[in-house]
Formats: sequence, C-alpha cells, structure tokens
Amino acid sequence: MSELIPPRLRDDCFAMPQGVEWVPVDEALARLRDALAPVTQTERVASAAASGRVLAADAVARRSNPPRPNSAVDGYGFAHEATGAGVQRLPLAAGRAAAGQPYDGAVPAGHAIRILTGAILPEGVDTVVLEEDCATDGRIVAFDGPVKPRANTRKAGEDVAEGALALPKGHRLRAPDLALLAALGIAEVEVVRRLRVGVLSTGDEIVGEPAEPALPHQIYDANRPMLLALAAAWGVVPVDLGHVRDDPALIEAALVRGAAEADVILTSGGASAGDEDHVSALLRAKGTLSSWRIAMKPGRPLALALWSGVPVFGLPGNPVAAFVCAAVFTRPALSLMAGAGWAEPLAVTLPAGFTKSKKAGRREYLRARIGADGRVEVFASEGSGRISGLAWATGLVELPDEAMNVAPGDPVRFLPYSGLGL
Ligand code: AMP
Ligand code: MG
Repeated sequence: MSELIPPRLRDDCFAMPQGVEWVPVDEALARLRDALAPVTQTERVASAAASGRVLAADAVARRSNPPRPNSAVDGYGFAHEATGAGVQRLPLAAGRAAAGQPYDGAVPAGHAIRILTGAILPEGVDTVVLEEDCATDGRIVAFDGPVKPRANTRKAGEDVAEGALALPKGHRLRAPDLALLAALGIAEVEVVRRLRVGVLSTGDEIVGEPAEPALPHQIYDANRPMLLALAAAWGVVPVDLGHVRDDPALIEAALVRGAAEADVILTSGGASAGDEDHVSALLRAKGTLSSWRIAMKPGRPLALALWSGVPVFGLPGNPVAAFVCAAVFTRPALSLMAGAGWAEPLAVTLPAGFTKSKKAGRREYLRARIGADGRVEVFASEGSGRISGLAWATGLVELPDEAMNVAPGDPVRFLPYSGLGL
C-alpha cells in the first residue's frame, strides 16, 4: 500500500518528562495533541458521496444562493414605489411568475402580478404581498398598505454569495453540508484521505469470535468489535487485525501487518508493565514505548508507542477502561490525524441523581444516563468488569481531578455518547 505514508513523528514524541508519576488527564491530552499530525494525502470526490469526509481545502461557492432575487411566499408582486398607506388596488398583469417558470415581461409600475414561492422576481417587481392578505377578482388585487419595501422577497446571494467561503478546510461533512454544497454548485470537494485504524486484541484467555466454543478459563473478545465499531462511528476506516495470543512473535506479526495496512493501531490487553504484558514488552523492545500512568479511573496505564513510525495506542484490556480511554484519548487523536482537528467532547451540565464522594488526585468517569426526571443516574456498580453498565449507559459522568462530594441535585458534567460520536 504505497499511498499509506504515516505522519512522521519523533521517536520520543510520546515521552513524559523524567520523574512524572501520575499524569493528569488534561496534561496527557495536551501532550498527545502536540505529538500527533494529520495525514497529508488528499483526493477529489463527488460532493454527494462525501458524507463523513473531512475537507482538505476550503469549499468556495460557485454560484450564489439564491442565484437571483425571488419570492419567499405565494402572493402578488409589484413595485413598492407605486404603493402607499391605506387600501391598495392594483390591476393584475396577465400571466404569472412561478418557480422554474420565469416571467419574461416587465410589470408596469402600479400593476401587480401573481407570483409563487421560489419564482424569480420579474422586472418591475421588488415587493410581494402574501396571498392570504389579499382579495382579488382576477382583474384587480386589493390589500392594506403600507407594505414594507422588499417584503416577502429574498435577495440574490442573501444566504451565500458566489465566491464566499461555504465550508472551511478541516470540516467533517454531514448531511446538511451536502445540501449546502449542492445548492452552491459545488459538485466535487477535495477531502483528506480516509484514516485507517487497525484494531488488535491480545491475550491467552481471549477467544476471538463469539461463534467459537470457549472453555471455562476463556472469555470472548469484547474489545475488538467495540473498537472497530467506534472507529467506524468516528468516520475512519476500521482495519480488523484480529486477536493474537500473548506470544511476542504473533503480536509482532500483527503489528507489522497493522503498520502496513493502517495509519494508527489500537491494541487492547497486555499494556501494563507486568509479566504477562506482552504488548508493552514488545513495544519497549522493538518500538518506542512511553507508558503513561494517567490519573484517571477507570484506566490503567495507557501505552503510547511508535511501531515503524505508526502510532500505537495500547489500551487497557478491561473493556470498560478500554472504552473510556478510547473515548477520552483516542477519539480526539484520530480526529486530529484525520484532518478534522482535535475533537473536544460535548459536555452538558445536569443535576446529579446520585450520591458520591471522591478523593483528589484523579479524574473519574462513571457510566451514566439521563433519567426520566432529567437527573443523571449512574450505574449501580463501578466495577470495571461490568460491561453491562457500558451498554446501560447513554453517556459518561466526568468528575474532576479534585476531591468532590456529589449530592442529589448538584450539577455534574455529563458527556453523552452522542457527543462522543456514537
Ligand atoms: P490486561 O490489560 O491484559 O491485563 O487485561 C485486563 C483484563 O481485561 C483481564 O481481565 C482480561 O481478561 C480482560 N481483557 C483483555 N482483553 C480483553 C478483550 N479483548 N475482551 C474482553 N476482556 C478482555
Ligand atoms: Mg492480558
């Protein structure tokens, strides 16, 4: 895949300063943001097929919207100058102006013409009165003046003028953006090449596919389907690198494949510093590893490494911790690498529907959802093995690094899954 040129990073780009023990979340985010770079390759695609893509260049209007002045309502058009206060009675010119059927004559001053929504204003018309405000016998139209000049009309280019910026570089296109591009005659856009994200699970206890049999000491791979689906939801191309046992040769082969087929690799499991933490051991021996002990719960050390120049996120094996680390760290990082800039999560402040006291020194993320009373409930257990809580939740409550006692009704920061791109 010769077009896959990953952004070049310094070998020590993820290094933490000497002596740093527990890294606060915000500092880890700032370092990650500094270390990563967007992919640079771009391609031209049809605007209609560009949903989810990131603009690599400003999109500029090729024509004005609307292209010509037109009527905003169904009614009667006339020259404002010939009207005044009190009841106005204007003779009707023959014919009508409709959308797609322009009137090719001129309307004399003091006359009116039947006009429909979206019709270009005929020569001699600058103002429209709503049909509901008129009486007519087919020869004369009568209405109460005065009417405001240019009432019920749209100016040419009042939405966007030809040559104006339609959407900026770095914008990720959504359905409404496709409407705007089409309206402005922008048939093609320059977009950033799609970011490819490899996902690898590791662990001797893991069975890769839920259709396979599992012995009592084995568990199914919960992280890989989750991380692949997160990648897809984030608009990047998921690359399934499968599951491998805790065998350095197998992990290495998977990373080699990942570096060839993806721009960034997410692994889960084996990322701590213990005997069975083969991912971090391998990255330390053959890549460039920086283990970050992030002051957050859940989330054990997050391993960040370069493998053949490709960034590797060594996520915790625990699915709850893997999800939270992916949401907090991987999502904004992938957005940056995909050319859309660092993505802050959407946070809303809501009253708590729970009681909790936390110590200072680490940030905490609780599986949460908004109850019928508009308060935020948290999952009954904070156990990090409780995957059902992730599925029960509709978002996360983020409690600050400082100590905090939450009582019912206190404001808390809620990060809806939808704001995390889910
Ligand atoms: P590790 O980070 O390898 O020490 O794993 C921490 C915990 O997460 C252990 O209980 C693992 O069995 C579990 N775990 C690791 N990978 C996965 C996975 N892909 N799916 C579900 N659980 C996992
Ligand atoms: Mg393990």
